[in-house]
Amino acid sequence: MLHIGCHLSAAKGFFAMGETALSLGADTFQFFTRNPRGSKAKPLDPLDAQRLNVLALEHGFAPLIAHAPYTINPCSASDQTREFAREAMADDLTRLEATPNNFYNFHPGSHVGQGVETGIRLIAETLNTILQPEQTTVVLLETMAGKGSEIGGKFEELREILDRVTLSDRMGVCLDTCHVYDAGYDIVNDLDGVLTAFDRVIGLSRLKAVHINDSIFGLGSHKDRHAKIGEGKIGTDAFGRIINHPALRSLPFCLETPNDLAGYKAEIELLRDLYRE
Ligand code: FE
Ligand code: FE
Ligand code: ZN
Repeated sequence: MLHIGCHLSAAKGFFAMGETALSLGADTFQFFTRNPRGSKAKPLDPLDAQRLNVLALEHGFAPLIAHAPYTINPCSASDQTREFAREAMADDLTRLEATPNNFYNFHPGSHVGQGVETGIRLIAETLNTILQPEQTTVVLLETMAGKGSEIGGKFEELREILDRVTLSDRMGVCLDTCHVYDAGYDIVNDLDGVLTAFDRVIGLSRLKAVHINDSIFGLGSHKDRHAKIGEGKIGTDAFGRIINHPALRSLPFCLETPNDLAGYKAEIELLRDLYRE
């Protein structure tokens, strides 16, 4: 079965997201742990979290993806900004234990002129401070488009972060189709080649989830502008190959396309139709 969902608003709480996901034909979803731009997290409602856990279990949900806010930068040049990233991420991980055994995805960060090596070292330091041996959440590095000084546009950079993390078994990778294509990995004409490279550099066992987005701009554009499925440069045929690929087909797929709920529902249906049981 295809495990698929989409990004949902967390405004009405955990259980409401679970019900919305079901109404869209989804069996997973993604949400921001706090305002994507702001810093404050809503107080956690343990009862609401528990109701979602029950719903997800009853309906056989695939792991959910909690997404860290965009604004955190664990490899900023500013001590204060790095400290904020550490605090927000540590707090998110504590809160996520109310909805255990899911994923926490984050953008590795931008080195802002300090260089890739320094950036990688600072990201790994942050992770080594916040990861706890007893946590049930697996933390995912997201593959990035390589916009500006973003780290994570090359598989090698993600490998280097993973190599430096002590609790490495608490870590994985989330592959974003728009981002990798923008970064220059040709998942349209050479999906096998890209996944072979991923396996050689990172290891496919690290790949835990896929963000499934079309891209407004072309291969290697480094732009990071998501499009609806079939309305960008990747195209519907390529997505059919992606969701059915033996290395990917059992992973949770999550849409982050520019859509309202009806649009997400239609995309979920489209992708379910393309999936070969
Ligand atoms: Fe993301
Ligand atoms: Fe993404
Ligand atoms: Zn993106």
